[in-house]
Amino acid sequence: MDNTPIIKGSIFVMSAASGTGKTSLTRELIRTNPQLRVAVSHTTRAPRENEVDHEHYHFVDQETFTTMVGEGQFLEHAKVHEHYYGTSIAAVTALTDAGFDVILEIDVQGAEQIRRSLPDAVCIFVLPPSWDVLRERLTNRGTNTAEDIELRLKNARLEFEQAALFDYLVVNDRLEEATQNINHIIKASRFRQSKDNHTLISLLED
Ligand code: 5GP
Repeated sequence: MDNTPIIKGSIFVMSAASGTGKTSLTRELIRTNPQLRVAVSHTTRAPRENEVDHEHYHFVDQETFTTMVGEGQFLEHAKVHEHYYGTSIAAVTALTDAGFDVILEIDVQGAEQIRRSLPDAVCIFVLPPSWDVLRERLTNRGTNTAEDIELRLKNARLEFEQAALFDYLVVNDRLEEATQNINHIIKASRFRQSKDNHTLISLLED
């Protein structure tokens, strides 16, 4: 049975190793693109000090998450850094039904699932300029333990190994420049054949 959900708007998958500056990038992309929204994921991880439930994530316990998986509520889900994360179908369709394009800020395992279920999704991988910068950003965040930083760096290498599967690679050295580059990708995707062929169809029918 094909249970791929019908999703009307454009979906942009943005993956990056933890500490690459994805959250700031997303914020800038939303600020500069009125038509774009980020889908709020579910996670079993505890909220960080500055995080707000239902805004940054829907924070749920393991049991709720497992039930949602069983009920097929997720478009994709994965275990990342010892916690579970997932994008619910409802979180995405609420936005696409309202006419928004949607960014999924998810890991490489989730991106792989989206590539299979939504082949039209545009997949962007964001790279840090260097290992030194990545380590520095993780350390400066101040919310991760030394052990957690090492785990995230180890996972980063595994994620970089998947980066070649993505449609686009963007280096986040300067936030403004990376935002601009992703905005070019978003703009270009709006001119893809599958997005607006009604003008072409009506020209051919006249
Ligand atoms: P953090 O705990 O730092 O917020 O996120 C850790 C990792 O989980 C990041 O790589 C982030 O992109 C990923 N992540 C966040 N939400 C989701 C999701 O819904 N699905 C998947 N597969 N990964 C997610």
